[in-house]
Amino acid sequence: MPFFRKDPFGRAWVLLSPERGLEPSDFGSVAQAPERSRLSPGADAAATEIAAVRPASSQAGGPDWRVRALTHPAHLVSARPTVTDAGDELFKQAAAYGYHEIIVEHPDARQRLETMPAEHLTEVLRFFRERVAVAAARPGIAHVQITRSVGRAAGAAYDHPHSQLLAVPVTNRWVEEEVAVAAEYHRDHGRCLFCQVLERELAERQRVVTQNDAYVAIAPFAAKTPFETWVLPRHHASSYAAVAANTLPALAELLQALVSAFNDALDAPPYNLMLHMVVEEGRPDYHWHIELLPRLTNQAGFDWGTGYFVNPTMPEDAARFLREALAMREVRA
Ligand SMILES: [Zn+2]
Ligand SMILES: [Zn+2]
Repeated sequence: MPFFRKDPFGRAWVLLSPERGLEPSDFGSVAQAPERSRLSPGADAAATEIAAVRPASSQAGGPDWRVRALTHPAHLVSARPTVTDAGDELFKQAAAYGYHEIIVEHPDARQRLETMPAEHLTEVLRFFRERVAVAAARPGIAHVQITRSVGRAAGAAYDHPHSQLLAVPVTNRWVEEEVAVAAEYHRDHGRCLFCQVLERELAERQRVVTQNDAYVAIAPFAAKTPFETWVLPRHHASSYAAVAANTLPALAELLQALVSAFNDALDAPPYNLMLHMVVEEGRPDYHWHIELLPRLTNQAGFDWGTGYFVNPTMPEDAARFLREALAMREVRA
């Protein structure tokens, strides 16, 4: 029997329709990357390095970096935009001002988030924090996001492990909706909506995929797509720029476990990873988190067209399936 669930973090209703079943992925598996790419050390003469993690003895722009941020070749926005008229009440405009960086996560094009050493991924997550903090502190920036796409079907422009940082003067629709709903909840109940949901999920356990001392992964109550998975820090913080560095090894470990579980259970699907945060640190009503969306079915036309998401996989089933995949890994290890 299909039924609706209201997204507690937004305004959408999701139609859960489990008997439709999950058909085999429309998109297949992520292909093995070639040995070298346009983002490999020495191949990037045209790109400008903004910042990098490299040995102290090495020269900026040189080839011996471990993680680096480059100006995105597509740079959707510019730090020095041509002035745009703000328009009026009815027809608003804003300059395409901002920062668009590509963060190259490893010199080796064939590495993946789940195969690189956990210490290296921790370094990447620390670098994200630095870049996010720099971007959020810049004048006029209203929104900062990090997105990671794996596989062409998920929109990745490169096979090389990378993420994108986008910092812009306008809000992001999905984060804005979460912010509005969470602010309302905080006004009415005096508590963070995300902390409250996390407490409830940990008590009920059905949708918890995995957890450690600092982070919890859940299948959200009103998951919009099959196997949508969220990672929430246990410690309340509104901006990723304020994340405690000593929790990042735990975040790296949890992300690697989750993507490995996707690989085992769903045959290495393309996926998107999105960091949701606000630029203000210390807001009591918003809680940064990471959303992971495996790309399994191509329903976007219907979903975007009607305003309703139809999800054929119950979040409780997705969570159980991923827990089993993780348990199998433990047995093999
Ligand atoms: Zn919170
Ligand atoms: Zn979110």
